[in-house]
Parts: sequence; structure tokens; C-alpha cells
Amino acid sequence: MHLVWFKRDLRVVDHAPLAAVPAGAPVLPLYVVEPGFWAQPDASGRHHAFLRETLDALDDALRRRGAPLCIKVGEAPQVLADLHRHRPITALLSHEETGNGWTYARDRAVAAWARAQGVPWREFPASGVVRRLDSRDRWQARRDAVMRADPLPAPASLTGVVLPSDPWPDAASLGLAPDPCPGRQNGGRGRALELLDSFLTDRGQSYRSAMSAPLSAADACSRLSPHFALGSLTIREAVQATAARQRALRGSRDGWAGSLKSFQARLAWRDHFIQKLEDQPAIEFHPMHSAYAGLRDDAPTRRTAWARGDTGLPFVDACMRSLIATGWLNFRMRAMLMSVAACHLWLDWRETGLHLARMFTDYEPGIHWSQVQMQSGTTGMNTLRIYNPIKQGHDQDPTGAFTRRWCPELAAVPDALLQEPWRWEGAARLPYPPPIVDVAEAARQARARIGAVRRGDGFRDEAAQVVRKHASRKRRSPRRGDGRQLSLDL
Ligand SMILES: Cc1cc2nc3c(=O)[nH]c(=O)nc-3n(C[C@H](O)[C@H](O)[C@H](O)COP(=O)(O)OP(=O)(O)OC[C@H]3O[C@@H](n4cnc5c(N)ncnc54)[C@H](O)[C@@H]3O)c2cc1C
Repeated sequence: MHLVWFKRDLRVVDHAPLAAVPAGAPVLPLYVVEPGFWAQPDASGRHHAFLRETLDALDDALRRRGAPLCIKVGEAPQVLADLHRHRPITALLSHEETGNGWTYARDRAVAAWARAQGVPWREFPASGVVRRLDSRDRWQARRDAVMRADPLPAPASLTGVVLPSDPWPDAASLGLAPDPCPGRQNGGRGRALELLDSFLTDRGQSYRSAMSAPLSAADACSRLSPHFALGSLTIREAVQATAARQRALRGSRDGWAGSLKSFQARLAWRDHFIQKLEDQPAIEFHPMHSAYAGLRDDAPTRRTAWARGDTGLPFVDACMRSLIATGWLNFRMRAMLMSVAACHLWLDWRETGLHLARMFTDYEPGIHWSQVQMQSGTTGMNTLRIYNPIKQGHDQDPTGAFTRRWCPELAAVPDALLQEPWRWEGAARLPYPPPIVDVAEAARQARARIGAVRRGDGFRDEAAQVVRKHASRKRRSPRRGDGRQLSLDL
């Protein structure tokens, strides 16, 4: 039988592995719930809940085509071996996955198993990401060509191999901590299509001007990120639908043109950052510039206050509490949370990055670890921006509505002092913690410490290397595709 292994490509439209199944050939669509994956420190209950909803929608779409989804629980190499014993797999088909370090290691184990069994495993590129890219110089042109090609239609019908699924493992049985998220987005392709449609016809008009403030961004941004993360919608579908809308609105002067241009740019950034992790998987674990290794502390008290939204810095706490309750935050506020953690609180980027990974329903390792490092100033190539959370509060929440909503303890504080309640005469009576740091002094210290690192011996030489790697001439560092033979011909 052909086995289509679904990973983070949970759809039937624009799905190359599914489209590659010859007409009439028996096919088993498989999803493997891997306990080892869910035991990783970047996994969370909200990811698990969103996945379940997305898989339900996928099963429905596959079932209507004659091939219900089979869900197995276990480690992928073992699950595949068991299925192969039961009914030989003549071809294993999947997308290439640029996930975290664990999925990379798992893919190597699956490749070894497939080779040993003589099972051909054919992997198809995901979006614009190129495996074993030799030079970044032509990457953009290749990505553009992928985006221009027509999305693959869903197969009209499939000849399903019907095998019983295992019972769905609940979050607790996978060792996941309770993770209440009452405002979490719901999964499933239907939801993704609704969001795309409402964004392109209505919500997206003010995207460019409204994306920076957390209250307006929640509606004006597309909110497609968790759907892209699990692949219920492809970037190509979004790029083409946006391009069609851009053509229809050509010449309009009502904000749409700028907004849709910005949106297209972000869809391209997504592929750019995932390509970066594909090329440099180490950035999930190590600072891009080694001078920053071990520079910061992992002070549990400060980290816990930050992670719970209890720092006594109102706008920081409001953003964190909103994220915990909804699973989403706009770009600028994600950047500010990371900047405050890494600079004012002088916390290590890896542990704080893991907390955000668990809280983001849309956790996408390729975007996440690059952004975490950029906003923490560990890349050696980007200018470090230290966000002032008091100023951000004034600029991005001028009425204070967002801050008051998530920090109700501050109800009595006058508007003018909302972002600095410690300056209010009644501060001692507030059921709210005093500020964990002096914002100006902590920023000054961080700037001085980082400045000292940048003036250190050899810093510039390595920074120049990081820039070269980024601009990507020929690569020397190990890459995901190196040392393994995954794309075997059918
Ligand atoms: C510290 C930090 C961590 C982040 N971690 C993630 C993550 O784990 N997953 C994730 O999807 N995004 C991440 N982002 C990027 C960005 O904040 C989110 O993609 C965006 O807020 C998601 O909301 P949206 O779908 O409404 O985005 P929109 O603004 O509508 O953008 C559309 C799509 O473009 C892509 N995109 C948007 N901004 C960026 C960007 N800066 N870089 C790359 N791609 C982008 C996303 O796929 C997004 O869904 C992170 C940003 C920061 C600063």
C-alpha cells in the first residue's frame, strides 16, 4: 500500500504527497501521535487541542474521498514498522518537515528504518523551503516560482486502506501540564478559509496601520498563523488569493494596497525564516554568535514573574496575560516581551523562548527561534533594539483599555500613571506587585553589558561570519539534509 504520512501539512488541497498517489492505488493516510514529541519542552496543551480540531477536519475531508485518516499513537519508526508487517508499505510519501531538533532526529530514524526495509520514502518540499540549498543567492527566485505555480487540487477520490485508529490520547496521558486557554483559536481548514476570506474582504484594510497595537491587531491581522503552522492552509494559497485581491483593488487609495503589500511581505518572511532553520538547525539551541553563550542568567524568580505576567510592569503583564489566555499576540508585543526578558530582566533566551513557544498556538520553530534570538540580541548581526515597556504602553495602548482589561488590579490608578503605577500615591494599597526592575536603569545596564561583549576580542570577526552565513554564500555548517538520503525515487 501507499502510505501518506501527515505531519504539519493537515489538508487535502495543495498536498503533493496525496496528489502523487496513483489513481486506484490503495492508500493509508496516517497521522502519528508521538509521545516523544509531546515530551519536549516546547510542546503544550494548547498545541495538542488545536491539533485535535485540525485532525478532525482533515479526517472529514479524507473520509469524504474514501480514505479515512488512521491515527496511531507511538514513535514513528515503530508505528511504521508495525504497519509494514501488517501490510507492506510500497511507498512512503510525506512533506519535508523543518521542525524542531526532535523531529529532525526522528526523521533520521525513519530514514534509517526505510532504507533498511527497502521502503522508498519520497519527501516533497514544503512551501518555498529548499532542502540542501547550496546558495541563498537564487533562493528568492525559486520561492517565487513555487508561489506562482497552481495549487494542487484535492484528489476527487481515494482508494482507502481502512485500519482502526488508536484512541485519542488526552493531554494528561502525554504528560502535558494543564494549559487552560479560553480564548484559543480553533483549528481546522474551514476556520482557516473563513479567516482568509474575512481578512481579504474586510478585516485586512487597516492591517498596516493597526498591526502594532495589541487591541486593534487582534482583528486587523490575518490570524492565520496557527493554521499555517499545522498546514491546514498553504502559503501558496494565501499568496495567490492575496494577489487576486490586489489585482481587483488596483488603484484604490483606501489603505488596502499598502496593507496587502505588507501582508505579502510577511508571507515571504515566513519562508525566509523557516529556510534559515532548515540551513542552520543549531539556532534552536545555540546563540547565533557564540559570544552570547551563557551571558545571561536563568533566575527562576524573575523568569516566573515574567512568565506569569507578574512583573509589576503593567504593559508587559497585560501582554503576557493576554497571551496566556488567548494563545496569540501581535508581532510587536512578542518582540517587546522577549526584549524585556533578555535585556531588563537579563534572562537567558532559550528558557524564555521555550515559554513563549508553549504559549503560542502558532509555534513555528523556524520563525520562533530566529525571532527569539533577534529580539534578545544574540545574533551578532542585528542592531539590538531595547523596547521601553512604559513607552510601548503609552504608544500602543494610549487609552489604557488593553492594560486595564488584563490587569484589573490597576482599576483605581489614574490614566496618566497607568503604565507606572508605582509613582501613584496609592501604590502601596494596590493588589499588584511593585516593579521587578527599574526600567531605565535595567536598560542602561543591559546596554553596557552587551556593549562590552561587542567590544570583546574576536567579536567582529565572528559577527562578519554570521552576516556572511545569513546572506548565504556556499554553506559550510551542517544542514538538515546533510548525511542522509531521504528523497528516494518511487
Ligand atoms: C519573539 C517572537 C516569536 C515569534 N514566534 C512565532 C511563531 O512561533 N510562529 C509564528 O507563526 N510567528 C511567530 N512570530 C512572528 C509573528 O509575530 C507572527 O507570525 C504573527 O504575529 C502571527 O499573527 P498573524 O497570523 O495574524 O500574522 P499576520 O501579520 O497576518 O501575518 C501573516 C503571516 O505571515 C507570517 N509572519 C508574520 N510576521 C512574521 C515575521 N515577523 N516573521 C516571519 N513570518 C511572519 C506568519 O506566518 C503569519 O501568519 C514571532 C515573533 C516574535 C517577535
